[in-house]
Amino acid sequence: MKRLMRTCAAALAGITALITALPATAAPGAAGQPGIDWTPAQIRAAFAPVRAGRKLLPKHWPAGAKVAVVLSFDVDNETWMIPNGKIDHGIASEYQYGATEGLPKVLKLLADRSLPATFFVPAADMLAPETLPAITASGRNEVAIHGWVHEDVVKLNDAALEERLTRQAFDYLKAKTGKAPVGMRTARGAPAPIPSPPRRSWACSTTAA
Ligand SMILES: [Zn+2]
Repeated sequence: MKRLMRTCAAALAGITALITALPATAAPGAAGQPGIDWTPAQIRAAFAPVRAGRKLLPKHWPAGAKVAVVLSFDVDNETWMIPNGKIDHGIASEYQYGATEGLPKVLKLLADRSLPATFFVPAADMLAPETLPAITASGRNEVAIHGWVHEDVVKLNDAALEERLTRQAFDYLKAKTGKAPVGMRTARGAPAPIPSPPRRSWACSTTAA
């Protein structure tokens, strides 16, 4: 019996020594979860850029409609891999189907039902020059900005650079379609961390989806 107790005591001591030797970061539950210690003010600050803003719901829809539906599409295709400068040709070959197969199917579906839609297009449509003419051919659809090359404005974190790229995209789309783009949706629906004056002066709306 004494021998058994000695064995147990030795095992317990071994376990205790092992736990003591573990690094502090290995504490279960706390590792990699710094938010568990945030104050209410820190929690509010962390979510501040994505709080719902002013209610824009009108009291009545035009012509007494009961509901309004917005159809909008982001025409990304392979442009999302441009900003980081790393082009994976295997993946890019798959995303090109968005231009060659996906967009024509969407446009046909809309045309069959005479439905208008808004297309958010990165200005880097030079990869698929047929994109903008195809979208605007029916005269029903709108074109809007989706970044210059689908850049992440949160990572940019630079008001001047964001403005330059947005204006570049605005001018490019206007020149290509003959009309000013009707609005902007940032790439990945990322909220711009810095208010961008040009959008207001162009009367463009920013939506995140
Ligand atoms: Zn996108």
